[in-house]
Amino acid sequence: MREMKNLKQLGEFGLIEHLSSKFNTYSKRVKKGIGDDCAVFSTLSNTSQLISTDALIESIHFDLKTISPKQLGFKAMSVNISDIAAMGGTPYLAVISLGLPKTTSIKFIDKLYSGLKKSCDLYNIQLVGGDTIASPKHLFINICILGEAVKNRVFYRKGARPGDQIFVTGNLGDSAMGLKLLRSKNKSFASKNHSDTLVKKHLEPTPRIKEARLLAKSNVKVTSMIDISDGLEQDLAHLCTTEKIGATLYEKNLPFSEALRNACLEKEYNPTDWILQGGEDYELLFTITPRDVKKLNRLFTKTDIPISHIGEITNIPKKIQLKKKTGKTIFLKMTKGFDHFKPNKRS
Ligand code: ADP
Ligand code: MG
Repeated sequence: MREMKNLKQLGEFGLIEHLSSKFNTYSKRVKKGIGDDCAVFSTLSNTSQLISTDALIESIHFDLKTISPKQLGFKAMSVNISDIAAMGGTPYLAVISLGLPKTTSIKFIDKLYSGLKKSCDLYNIQLVGGDTIASPKHLFINICILGEAVKNRVFYRKGARPGDQIFVTGNLGDSAMGLKLLRSKNKSFASKNHSDTLVKKHLEPTPRIKEARLLAKSNVKVTSMIDISDGLEQDLAHLCTTEKIGATLYEKNLPFSEALRNACLEKEYNPTDWILQGGEDYELLFTITPRDVKKLNRLFTKTDIPISHIGEITNIPKKIQLKKKTGKTIFLKMTKGFDHFKPNKRS
């Protein structure tokens, strides 16, 4: 295998054999992993099964000039895991489809898979199969992930009621600023330390599985949940899709890191804009019934990731308001989120 340098030499089947050697230990639940027409596994009887898929394509989702193949593998798996977390579930199985330009080196694929494996090992996920095809130009990665949740503890996007309180895990805006730093020629607008923090949040996001599990196991009444991939404003709007609800956010409670604060100071940006519109933080955004606020805060006191109480659900249909630090309340315009088919792509 060592003398094989690229796909043309190794071929599809040689590659599959090469890859499967890295993923050949499975849990008892997996009856058949890579190597047959389908993978075979058993499910647990008291669970609801969750399935989701997410695709990444070079030049839209990533740029190989700014992300290493190992980071790319790790991120591709992490963003899929985040969707399982967003439902309150635990991931356990995944399959991957790769579209590879013929010139892709085996070294590159090995690094990509080492990132995938790092994420799989961290979250106890078994990679049990996939598909490999040639791509005319760009690298393409699609992962399909399976998870499970305790029955009756699956958290949906729809379900919030006026008066419900809005919470978010971690900090927001870091990932978008990290991307800005990666793309900017003048990286010196943030100190090395802060720049590393922001860029890392963009390239190696941590899906909030631990936090989702904590919520699912508790008896806090979670009324809706989503992971923040497109930005707080847009993802909060997804929680307000019924005609009857909107939301108010409290600017003073919006969480951001010291690194983001410093980068914003340097550039005279308003951190609130980055928090509202910055995507790919993969934090959990959720609503709970008002009487469980204390219970929730108690639940999260012992965790390493803090939660912030950022607002509440209103009865003003589909409007998101921001209660500013000055005391003034404004309606957000809701135009800045990311939509693949609209021209307002992130800059
Ligand atoms: P089929 O022709 O039935 O689609 P393949 O030859 O594509 O079968 O795949 C053979 C085995 O290798 C299957 O178990 C499949 O799940 C697995 N596989 C194919 N590509 C990949 C990949 N990129 N990563 C992991 N497993 C893969
Ligand atoms: Mg196939």
